[in-house]
Amino acid sequence: MTHEILTADSLKAFPLPVQHEGSKDERGTALVIGGSRSVPGAALLAGVAALRAGAGKLKIATVESRAAGMGLAVPEAMVVDLPETPEGGIDGERAADCLRKVIKGCDALLIGPGLIEDGPTAKLAVELLEELPDASFILDAAAVCGLAPKADDVRRHEGRVVVTPHAGEMAQLLNRSREAVEADPLDAALAAVDLLRAVVVMKGAQTWIVEPKGARWHYEGGGVGLATSGSGDTLAGIIVGLLARGVAPLAAALWGVLLHGEAGKRLAASVGPVGFLARELPGEVPRLLRETA
Ligand code: AMP
Ligand code: MG
Repeated sequence: MTHEILTADSLKAFPLPVQHEGSKDERGTALVIGGSRSVPGAALLAGVAALRAGAGKLKIATVESRAAGMGLAVPEAMVVDLPETPEGGIDGERAADCLRKVIKGCDALLIGPGLIEDGPTAKLAVELLEELPDASFILDAAAVCGLAPKADDVRRHEGRVVVTPHAGEMAQLLNRSREAVEADPLDAALAAVDLLRAVVVMKGAQTWIVEPKGARWHYEGGGVGLATSGSGDTLAGIIVGLLARGVAPLAAALWGVLLHGEAGKRLAASVGPVGFLARELPGEVPRLLRETA
């Protein structure tokens, strides 16, 4: 079976919404559930990226010890503090209760960046999927690693879930070795689609995007500088921002990968091939959107 090459030209078939006017509510609310005591910045990176992708409103739910700092670091966000485990992660059971009130009115949820407990995170993700039947979801990092036992619960929600694992996370999801995933990432992506019936973004130096209806896309990559701490969190944030704006999951995944990669190319040109920071990627997105979308 053939695949499409992901470029700005090939995405002309997936136009993004044009928004010349209208309130912030019309560009949707994104909720990022992420960050732990030791990795709080992942939620910050994702949240800022969601706003840079044009989401109208942002909520960040993170561990209570880091919530006040988050509110100051991202003054645009409404911050929700979640019960914390002794290890500094989100206490999934008690967090679910807090989040039930917060998720109302959210159009798109990102769960996972910076979270440290795979099983409880995946459990929380499927509970929220049930709770919020009209929203789109992106599951990343810990939320993907712990998802295999919950695969049936994800399959039921075909058409509104994106997952964004790197090779190590994909290895955990499929119970394969990392080497096996790296040797044939397309095969891994297809296996993950079979398992979850979701849009799968198999990240790496090159990226595969595959979905249940059979489309396969390949992105050549935005350059080695993207292999840097926090890079994937900004990709997930761009995607949740687009989902909040009402972009369909496959289109949001494709645009997210393209915008993230092209942002990497621009920073490689202006800063240097390596050494730019993940936090600098989202700032490139509005201009890229103006020029390519
Ligand atoms: P994460 O590992 O979750 O931080 O995600 C890393 C992000 O950077 C993904 O979007 C990858 O596709 C991208 N990436 C990682 N390594 C490379 C590389 N060598 N060349 C281009 N992109 C990369
Ligand atoms: Mg990551």
